[in-house]
Amino acid sequence: MKIGILGNGQLGQMLMDSVQDIPELEISLYDLRAHSDDALDAFLASVDRVSYETENIPAHIVARLEPVAEKVYPSLKALKTFQNRLLEKNALRAAGIATADFCAVNSLDDVKSAVVTLGLPIVLKTTTEGYDGKGQYVLRSPDDAEPAWAAIGNRELIAEAFVKFERETSVIASRDVNGNILVFPMTENIHHEGILRYSLFPAAGLSAAKAALAERYIRQLADSLDYVGTITLELFETADGLVGNEVAPRVHNSGHWSIEGTEASQFRNHMLAISGRALGATTPKYPAVAMLNVISDETPAEKAEGISNAFRHSYGKEARPARKLGHVTVVAQSVAERDATIDQLSALIPAGVWPPVQH
Ligand code: AMP
Repeated sequence: MKIGILGNGQLGQMLMDSVQDIPELEISLYDLRAHSDDALDAFLASVDRVSYETENIPAHIVARLEPVAEKVYPSLKALKTFQNRLLEKNALRAAGIATADFCAVNSLDDVKSAVVTLGLPIVLKTTTEGYDGKGQYVLRSPDDAEPAWAAIGNRELIAEAFVKFERETSVIASRDVNGNILVFPMTENIHHEGILRYSLFPAAGLSAAKAALAERYIRQLADSLDYVGTITLELFETADGLVGNEVAPRVHNSGHWSIEGTEASQFRNHMLAISGRALGATTPKYPAVAMLNVISDETPAEKAEGISNAFRHSYGKEARPARKLGHVTVVAQSVAERDATIDQLSALIPAGVWPPVQH
């Protein structure tokens, strides 16, 4: 079976690598940045299944997928839903998942009414094309309405009530064509300046009740869309529950640790699911695992070379500020061993961001 993936970045590459041992699967990657309509149409015609490494696909390219919709996994419906934050929040609610209160904003007057209906602070976000905290504005006073609209407005926005979360977590699952779902262990995610810096499994002190709730949420979400492939749900953890924030219809940075850390990785299960195969087990192979992103500068990652329980992945990209150049996975027999290894690699993490703040 031939599988074509839209996007040839690190996610596409890791999806491809994950099934190198299955000769029946022939994988090719399409470079979205070098797009031409003819090249895309030829690519789509040459494969049996189409998938994508990113939901940030321009509308004119999504339109060209319509005629081959039956071979696109996850479905075009899922792609379009999670391309737009309003559709996304509605889908979360429809699947029974708690979210912040929100409303659509299409004018400065709408911003002002959102301040009244949602209360302050509110987070204003562009409905499309926002990632790593871009296209966002936090309003803390009614006077912020005008600067906020000037900064990111003049297009469709979503206003969300500010969630006073204790930390950010994510849950990832894969669903096969028969509706079987396997869920990966939850991770705790630590961001800095809008970019994920590291993920931890297990999430410290995560209650069994919250872990079960996250699992129920992602099952409900995947089932509600008859989803096929790997899906990620980012959740805010609050004192008394979990609040759905964002969905990625794909493998996710917070699941990279699954390459070494679980029986089957998020990448492999995505490929197994979309090719109609049974999923591999998502059970952890170690009691504790961490993933550290390598951002802007590869040199601190060189430290991982001498550490036997650290695995370095380099994406072969040119260094640029704020660019993800690779990641390092740490596997350990205990949280203490994991954290001692992270200490050795702490040059990868900005000052003050490791260890995570305890709430
Ligand atoms: P997002 O692009 O939606 O993942 O948002 C980027 C970051 O902004 C999140 O990781 C949070 O740290 C923060 N954030 C987003 N939405 C909210 C919200 N409704 N309340 C509080 N913080 C938020």
